[in-house]
Amino acid sequence: MKTLATAKELREAIGNVKKTGQLLGFVPTMGALHSGHLSLVEECKKTCAICVVSIFVNPTQFNDKSDLKNYPRMPEQDLKKLEDAQVDFVFFPSEKEMYPEEDTRVFHFGVLETVMEGLHRPGHFNGVAQIVSKLFDIVQPDKAFFGEKDFQQLAIIKKMVKMLDLNVEVVPCATIREDDGLAMSSRNLLLTPENRKNAPRIRQLLLQAVERQHQATVQEVEKETVTALDAIENFKTDYFEIVHSDTLQPVTSWDEKGPKTACVAVYAGKIRLIDNIRFL
Ligand code: AMP
Repeated sequence: MKTLATAKELREAIGNVKKTGQLLGFVPTMGALHSGHLSLVEECKKTCAICVVSIFVNPTQFNDKSDLKNYPRMPEQDLKKLEDAQVDFVFFPSEKEMYPEEDTRVFHFGVLETVMEGLHRPGHFNGVAQIVSKLFDIVQPDKAFFGEKDFQQLAIIKKMVKMLDLNVEVVPCATIREDDGLAMSSRNLLLTPENRKNAPRIRQLLLQAVERQHQATVQEVEKETVTALDAIENFKTDYFEIVHSDTLQPVTSWDEKGPKTACVAVYAGKIRLIDNIRFL
């Protein structure tokens, strides 16, 4: 495994590989790696001869300064995990390397960004698009792997790839969970023991919402889920919405056609957790 800190070095290393015509897969991350990230690496290695992982805590996607400051960073452990997973290249750039100048680009994702995370974290997806477009430009991957845990992010990345006409296949990967059902997240490390103990309730309430489909109206299910989440000590719902899986627009009736997904963001104390579930 080669760890590279500059775009120039990575471009050179990758250029040599690309000449051989092998498929190159890319897994962008912000580090503090867990089995969710490693499942993306595994997926990548299934179909791509070369696997590139980036670790970069991207400041432009944090709308909350204290979230950026407190975001877990553990580069040595991360590099060990990636080495064990037999990753070929790790890109581990500095902030100056990724943003030698302020990135003033503004992306417009239409209705995809006016709901949920887009609404509750202003500027977040613009920052995501800034960094992912830069990384794609450097890595030039054939395939890029993203987790379904960040459901809206996945939709935004797919849209960005279309808008910019990039030659990258975006591959969605299933959410990996702790044994108790909590979706794995780097931010789980920041939960207090009490909030960590209660956090699996999020998944349980998502499963319950699916069960309640057709027993109650969409609005009733939304309301009862928010009430149940807010009833957990120290928890506060940021949003819970049942949306059309492709457009991310609110579902108003179960009769509406097409796949549906419930998406949730909850504050567990100061830590914001997200999760989602598909309706069958
Ligand atoms: P992050 O480091 O949080 O920016 O995440 C990097 C990538 O890992 C993103 O594509 C995430 O959607 C994905 N990811 C994070 N948590 C999980 C999980 N529990 N299961 C699957 N993928 C995940």
